[in-house]
Amino acid sequence: MAKTIGSIIMMIFFCSILPAGAADEIKTSAGLLQIKCLGHASLMFSFNDMVIHVDPYSRMADYAALPDADLILVTHQHGDHLDTSAIKQIRKPETRILCAAGCLNDLPGAEAMANGDTRKLDGIHITAVPAYNLVHKRKDGTPYHPKGEGNGYVLEFGDTRVYVAGDTENTPEMKALEEIDIAFLPINLPYTMDAKMVTDAVKALKPAVLYPYHFAFGTTDLDELITAMKAFPGTELRIRNKP
Ligand code: ZN
Ligand code: ZN
Repeated sequence: MAKTIGSIIMMIFFCSILPAGAADEIKTSAGLLQIKCLGHASLMFSFNDMVIHVDPYSRMADYAALPDADLILVTHQHGDHLDTSAIKQIRKPETRILCAAGCLNDLPGAEAMANGDTRKLDGIHITAVPAYNLVHKRKDGTPYHPKGEGNGYVLEFGDTRVYVAGDTENTPEMKALEEIDIAFLPINLPYTMDAKMVTDAVKALKPAVLYPYHFAFGTTDLDELITAMKAFPGTELRIRNKP
Protein backbone atom coordinates (compact mmCIF):
# COMPACT_ATOMS: atom_id res chain seq x y z
CA MET A 1 0.00 0.00 0.00
CA ALA A 2 2.74 2.42 1.01
CA LYS A 3 4.54 1.57 -2.22
CA THR A 4 1.39 2.27 -4.22
CA ILE A 5 0.85 5.63 -2.53
CA GLY A 6 4.54 6.44 -3.01
CA SER A 7 4.27 5.58 -6.69
CA ILE A 8 1.20 7.74 -7.17
CA ILE A 9 2.85 10.69 -5.42
CA MET A 10 5.99 10.18 -7.48
CA MET A 11 3.96 10.08 -10.70
CA ILE A 12 2.21 13.34 -9.79
CA PHE A 13 5.51 15.13 -9.25
CA PHE A 14 7.69 13.72 -11.98
CA CYS A 15 5.47 12.97 -14.91
CA SER A 16 2.11 13.79 -16.31
CA ILE A 17 -0.60 11.20 -16.77
CA LEU A 18 -3.71 11.50 -18.89
CA PRO A 19 -6.56 9.03 -19.15
CA ALA A 20 -7.29 7.07 -22.31
CA GLY A 21 -8.69 9.08 -25.18
CA ALA A 22 -7.22 12.46 -24.26
CA ALA A 23 -5.01 14.22 -26.83
CA ASP A 24 -1.80 16.15 -26.35
CA GLU A 25 -1.27 19.23 -28.48
CA ILE A 26 2.10 20.34 -29.82
CA LYS A 27 2.58 23.58 -31.71
CA THR A 28 4.94 23.05 -34.65
CA SER A 29 6.23 25.56 -37.20
CA ALA A 30 3.80 24.06 -39.75
CA GLY A 31 0.64 23.66 -37.69
CA LEU A 32 -0.88 21.99 -34.67
CA LEU A 33 0.02 18.38 -33.97
CA GLN A 34 -2.38 16.37 -31.84
CA ILE A 35 -1.21 13.11 -30.33
CA LYS A 36 -3.42 10.35 -29.00
CA CYS A 37 -1.95 7.27 -27.36
CA LEU A 38 -4.59 4.62 -27.90
CA GLY A 39 -2.78 1.88 -25.99
CA HIS A 40 0.10 -0.55 -26.49
CA ALA A 41 1.83 0.62 -29.72
CA SER A 42 -1.22 2.25 -31.31
CA LEU A 43 -0.96 6.00 -31.86
CA MET A 44 -3.03 8.54 -33.73
CA PHE A 45 -1.61 11.85 -34.93
CA SER A 46 -3.75 14.67 -36.30
CA PHE A 47 -1.81 17.34 -38.12
CA ASN A 48 -3.77 20.19 -39.63
CA ASP A 49 -6.42 18.18 -41.53
CA MET A 50 -4.39 14.98 -41.85
CA VAL A 51 -4.91 11.85 -39.78
CA ILE A 52 -2.06 9.41 -39.27
CA HIS A 53 -2.55 6.08 -37.54
CA VAL A 54 0.47 4.11 -36.32
CA ASP A 55 0.17 0.35 -35.73
CA PRO A 56 -3.62 0.35 -35.38
CA TYR A 57 -4.67 -2.61 -33.22
CA SER A 58 -8.31 -3.58 -32.64
CA ARG A 59 -7.70 -4.58 -29.04
CA MET A 60 -6.75 -0.99 -28.21
CA ALA A 61 -9.61 0.99 -29.75
CA ASP A 62 -12.87 0.86 -31.68
CA TYR A 63 -11.41 1.90 -35.01
CA ALA A 64 -14.87 2.16 -36.57
CA ALA A 65 -15.41 5.14 -34.27
CA LEU A 66 -12.08 6.82 -35.03
CA PRO A 67 -11.30 9.10 -37.97
CA ASP A 68 -10.21 7.43 -41.20
CA ALA A 69 -6.52 7.57 -41.99
CA ASP A 70 -4.78 9.61 -44.64
CA LEU A 71 -1.62 7.72 -43.73
CA ILE A 72 -1.10 4.45 -41.87
CA LEU A 73 2.36 3.47 -40.63
CA VAL A 74 3.00 -0.17 -39.74
CA THR A 75 6.29 -0.91 -38.00
CA HIS A 76 6.45 -4.70 -38.44
CA GLN A 77 4.46 -7.85 -39.01
CA HIS A 78 3.73 -8.97 -35.45
CA GLY A 79 0.01 -9.26 -34.71
CA ASP A 80 -0.01 -6.43 -32.15
CA HIS A 81 1.27 -4.05 -34.86
CA LEU A 82 -0.14 -5.42 -38.12
CA ASP A 83 -3.87 -5.91 -37.63
CA THR A 84 -5.68 -6.05 -40.96
CA SER A 85 -9.13 -5.77 -39.41
CA ALA A 86 -8.22 -2.50 -37.68
CA ILE A 87 -6.67 -1.22 -40.92
CA LYS A 88 -9.82 -2.15 -42.86
CA GLN A 89 -11.87 0.10 -40.55
CA ILE A 90 -9.78 3.22 -41.17
CA ARG A 91 -8.58 2.70 -44.74
CA LYS A 92 -10.06 4.91 -47.46
CA PRO A 93 -9.38 4.29 -51.16
CA GLU A 94 -6.78 7.08 -51.09
CA THR A 95 -5.15 6.11 -47.78
CA ARG A 96 -1.43 5.65 -48.12
CA ILE A 97 0.12 2.81 -46.12
CA LEU A 98 3.84 2.67 -45.40
CA CYS A 99 5.13 -0.51 -43.81
CA ALA A 100 8.04 -2.88 -43.34
CA ALA A 101 8.48 -5.27 -46.28
CA GLY A 102 7.34 -8.27 -44.20
CA CYS A 103 3.84 -6.76 -44.00
CA LEU A 104 3.27 -6.43 -47.74
CA ASN A 105 1.57 -9.82 -48.25
CA ASP A 106 -1.15 -8.80 -45.82
CA LEU A 107 -1.45 -5.24 -47.08
CA PRO A 108 -2.11 -5.10 -50.82
CA GLY A 109 -1.46 -1.61 -52.13
CA ALA A 110 0.89 -0.66 -49.29
CA GLU A 111 4.42 0.63 -49.89
CA ALA A 112 7.36 -1.06 -48.24
CA MET A 113 10.04 1.05 -46.62
CA ALA A 114 13.44 -0.41 -45.79
CA ASN A 115 15.56 1.01 -42.98
CA GLY A 116 16.89 4.34 -44.22
CA ASP A 117 14.17 4.96 -46.82
CA THR A 118 12.41 8.31 -46.83
CA ARG A 119 9.02 9.51 -48.09
CA LYS A 120 7.22 12.81 -48.17
CA LEU A 121 3.48 13.17 -47.79
CA ASP A 122 1.66 16.51 -47.68
CA GLY A 123 4.68 18.24 -46.22
CA ILE A 124 5.43 15.53 -43.66
CA HIS A 125 8.85 14.00 -44.10
CA ILE A 126 9.12 10.36 -43.00
CA THR A 127 12.26 8.29 -42.50
CA ALA A 128 12.24 4.57 -41.70
CA VAL A 129 14.89 3.70 -39.12
CA PRO A 130 16.10 0.33 -37.79
CA ALA A 131 14.20 -1.41 -34.98
CA TYR A 132 15.66 -4.60 -33.58
CA ASN A 133 16.84 -6.53 -30.50
CA LEU A 134 20.45 -6.75 -29.47
CA VAL A 135 19.93 -8.63 -26.21
CA HIS A 136 16.50 -10.22 -25.98
CA LYS A 137 16.18 -13.40 -28.01
CA ARG A 138 13.95 -16.43 -28.42
CA LYS A 139 15.06 -19.80 -27.05
CA ASP A 140 16.55 -20.72 -30.42
CA GLY A 141 18.79 -17.64 -30.32
CA THR A 142 16.85 -15.59 -32.86
CA PRO A 143 16.21 -12.01 -31.72
CA TYR A 144 12.52 -11.26 -31.16
CA HIS A 145 13.02 -8.57 -33.77
CA PRO A 146 15.89 -9.36 -36.17
CA LYS A 147 17.81 -6.43 -37.60
CA GLY A 148 16.50 -5.22 -40.95
CA GLU A 149 12.93 -6.55 -40.61
CA GLY A 150 11.16 -3.86 -38.62
CA ASN A 151 10.98 -0.10 -38.86
CA GLY A 152 10.81 2.77 -36.47
CA TYR A 153 9.76 6.06 -38.05
CA VAL A 154 10.99 9.62 -37.69
CA LEU A 155 8.25 12.03 -38.73
CA GLU A 156 8.98 15.69 -39.32
CA PHE A 157 6.05 18.01 -38.76
CA GLY A 158 7.55 21.38 -39.66
CA ASP A 159 10.45 21.84 -37.26
CA THR A 160 9.22 19.17 -34.85
CA ARG A 161 10.81 15.74 -35.14
CA VAL A 162 8.83 12.84 -33.70
CA TYR A 163 10.44 9.43 -33.29
CA VAL A 164 8.21 6.37 -33.06
CA ALA A 165 10.70 3.63 -32.24
CA GLY A 166 8.70 0.45 -32.95
CA ASP A 167 9.74 -2.79 -31.27
CA THR A 168 13.41 -2.25 -30.58
CA GLU A 169 16.15 -1.96 -28.03
CA ASN A 170 18.59 0.93 -27.53
CA THR A 171 20.56 0.25 -30.69
CA PRO A 172 23.51 2.32 -31.90
CA GLU A 173 21.33 3.56 -34.79
CA MET A 174 18.71 4.77 -32.34
CA LYS A 175 21.27 6.56 -30.22
CA ALA A 176 22.73 8.25 -33.30
CA LEU A 177 19.42 9.95 -34.20
CA GLU A 178 19.67 13.69 -33.91
CA GLU A 179 17.36 16.51 -32.92
CA ILE A 180 14.49 14.34 -31.75
CA ASP A 181 11.90 16.47 -29.97
CA ILE A 182 9.39 13.79 -29.05
CA ALA A 183 10.31 10.14 -28.59
CA PHE A 184 8.02 7.14 -28.28
CA LEU A 185 10.18 4.38 -26.80
CA PRO A 186 8.87 0.88 -26.08
CA ILE A 187 9.13 -0.56 -22.60
CA ASN A 188 8.16 -4.16 -21.87
CA LEU A 189 10.09 -7.36 -21.47
CA PRO A 190 11.23 -9.56 -23.05
CA TYR A 191 10.29 -8.09 -26.44
CA THR A 192 11.59 -4.55 -26.18
CA MET A 193 13.39 -2.49 -23.49
CA ASP A 194 13.68 -2.32 -19.74
CA ALA A 195 13.91 0.96 -17.82
CA LYS A 196 17.73 1.02 -18.01
CA MET A 197 17.69 0.65 -21.79
CA VAL A 198 15.07 3.38 -22.12
CA THR A 199 17.04 5.82 -19.98
CA ASP A 200 20.23 4.97 -21.87
CA ALA A 201 18.40 5.92 -25.07
CA VAL A 202 17.06 9.12 -23.47
CA LYS A 203 20.61 10.07 -22.49
CA ALA A 204 21.63 9.93 -26.15
CA LEU A 205 18.46 11.30 -27.77
CA LYS A 206 17.74 14.08 -25.26
CA PRO A 207 14.12 14.46 -26.35
CA ALA A 208 12.04 17.26 -24.86
CA VAL A 209 9.25 14.73 -24.34
CA LEU A 210 9.41 10.99 -23.73
CA TYR A 211 6.35 8.81 -24.18
CA PRO A 212 7.08 5.29 -23.00
CA TYR A 213 4.75 2.98 -24.92
CA HIS A 214 4.12 -0.70 -25.73
CA PHE A 215 3.50 -1.37 -22.02
CA ALA A 216 0.47 -2.60 -20.15
CA PHE A 217 -0.79 -0.83 -17.05
CA GLY A 218 -0.74 -3.21 -14.12
CA THR A 219 1.67 -5.57 -15.89
CA THR A 220 4.67 -3.43 -16.78
CA ASP A 221 6.41 -1.89 -13.77
CA LEU A 222 6.98 1.77 -14.65
CA ASP A 223 8.26 2.81 -11.20
CA GLU A 224 11.92 2.21 -12.09
CA LEU A 225 11.59 4.37 -15.20
CA ILE A 226 9.79 7.13 -13.31
CA THR A 227 12.57 7.19 -10.70
CA ALA A 228 15.39 6.99 -13.26
CA MET A 229 13.93 9.82 -15.34
CA LYS A 230 14.49 12.21 -12.42
CA ALA A 231 18.11 12.32 -13.63
CA PHE A 232 16.91 13.86 -16.93
CA PRO A 233 15.14 17.10 -16.02
CA GLY A 234 15.35 18.27 -19.64
CA THR A 235 12.99 15.49 -20.74
CA GLU A 236 9.34 15.50 -19.74
CA LEU A 237 8.02 12.02 -19.07
CA ARG A 238 4.49 11.57 -20.34
CA ILE A 239 2.66 8.43 -19.37
CA ARG A 240 -0.56 8.17 -21.30
CA ASN A 241 -3.57 5.99 -21.83
CA LYS A 242 -4.10 5.21 -18.18
CA PRO A 243 -7.28 3.11 -18.03
ZN1 ZN B 1 7.11 -7.14 -32.28
ZN1 ZN C 1 5.05 -5.41 -30.18
